Amino acid sequence: MSTRVRVRFAPSPTGYLHVGGLRTALYNYLFAKRNDGVFVLRIEDTDQSRKVEGAVDNLIRTLDWAGIHFNEGPGRDANHGPYVQSQRLTIYRDHAHELIRKGHAYYCFCTPERLDELRKQQAAEGKGQAYDRHCRALDPAESEKRAASGERHVVRMRIPEYGELTMRDVIRGEVTFKYDVLDDQVLIKSDGFPTYHLAVVVDDHLMEISHVIRGEEWLPSAPKHVLLYRYFGWELPVFAHLPLLLNPDKSKLSKRQGDVAVEDYRAKGYLKEAIINFVAFLGWNPGDDREIFSMEQLINEFDLERVGKAGAVFNVDKLNWLNQQHIMLKPVEELTALVRPDLEANGIMGIDESRLRAAVALMRERIPFVIGFAESARYLFVAPDTYEEAGVKKNWDAETGPRMLALAERLSAMSAFETAEIEGAVKALAEELQIKASKLIHPTRLAISGRTGGPGLYELMAFLGKPEVVSRIRNAVEKINLLVLGA
Ligand code: GLU
Repeated sequence: MSTRVRVRFAPSPTGYLHVGGLRTALYNYLFAKRNDGVFVLRIEDTDQSRKVEGAVDNLIRTLDWAGIHFNEGPGRDANHGPYVQSQRLTIYRDHAHELIRKGHAYYCFCTPERLDELRKQQAAEGKGQAYDRHCRALDPAESEKRAASGERHVVRMRIPEYGELTMRDVIRGEVTFKYDVLDDQVLIKSDGFPTYHLAVVVDDHLMEISHVIRGEEWLPSAPKHVLLYRYFGWELPVFAHLPLLLNPDKSKLSKRQGDVAVEDYRAKGYLKEAIINFVAFLGWNPGDDREIFSMEQLINEFDLERVGKAGAVFNVDKLNWLNQQHIMLKPVEELTALVRPDLEANGIMGIDESRLRAAVALMRERIPFVIGFAESARYLFVAPDTYEEAGVKKNWDAETGPRMLALAERLSAMSAFETAEIEGAVKALAEELQIKASKLIHPTRLAISGRTGGPGLYELMAFLGKPEVVSRIRNAVEKINLLVLGA
């Protein structure tokens, strides 16, 4: 095995990248980066029935978007390819034959009907389902002939009947499995394709993978893999099985309870920085109370030793919070570039760059996602034509209209229309009218934005500018008066 750290992410191309897959990819990438190692992308497409057109391109695009770049993989060959399993079939067949020659594997000619019958019988007897090893006793020379003559067959691995196997896992320590719970695993299927178990071991060895970092769901398969390494006489890689991802109710993370595809979160406008930060914490933490991490910081601090065994809960509130934190950290220019497409998709075109930057600066504490900016910030660019009903009910009565017109008058006479001056003018008028400032503030917000919440009112007014504010107030008085007073 190479002394250099070499890790891999080995997804099956199902059409989208699951957040669990992103976590596996990220941990491998961080571990490689931190150890000056190589990160390999390998496509495990041996299950031809699950093949999805365009899945590999989509996967690579999503990883690239997330900032997880592989050193070797499809299209980036470096002496260990091909990196797509369906292009490596002869390699697996040769290795299966090696195992047969060594007596560690055998041909199995059992028909699907016989296996079906067996399963039914085992179910009726309340037994666990396992192959009864019928063909294990066949004469090897005889089997070889039958296979060579074209008789339909699979190749199975020979699992010891008694005893147990102990292996080390960085995250779990020593783990022991009893052989009698392991089936004589199929290694080559009747269509000539390898199963995952054979392919993964052969590839990890030939690609000189030093550390196998993958999800806990593969732990039950690990003893079969360890046995295969022994059968081939190969050195074992280091294993690290990452904790399961759970829904908040502690069930296994599933589509049923929310989105699991990274693309879905991307489409909703979550920042990749937030997604990466969030996913990094699904099983790992820095050992203190810091929570906001950039990719650079993660690379500097990530450590397999700090990955826990306990299932990691996928908490969307936490993701939302992190997204907000990363929005606050992002330079205004970058956020501006991110929100422009959303504005344009909503028909708000051609906003001047410096104007848009000012809008983003005003709203950034309130942008939950970059997508949705147009909806929550539309009134920064377009006068409202509706007014929140509850706000009108609460903040507008017969006396409001005349007060608002007085305010419009006062504002239009101002020379400097900046935050402090606007605040001074509003408060002075409230005093003269002997009312609380809030009697002007709430209706003004409603009049100029149509809403009851938003950024600081005086900043918002300064952003809109005097003529726009005055005209919006006058407009609102007309429209809301109609609503409220029916006049
Ligand atoms: N192809 C497996 C998957 O889809 C990879 C498991 C492994 O990393 O060994 O997750």
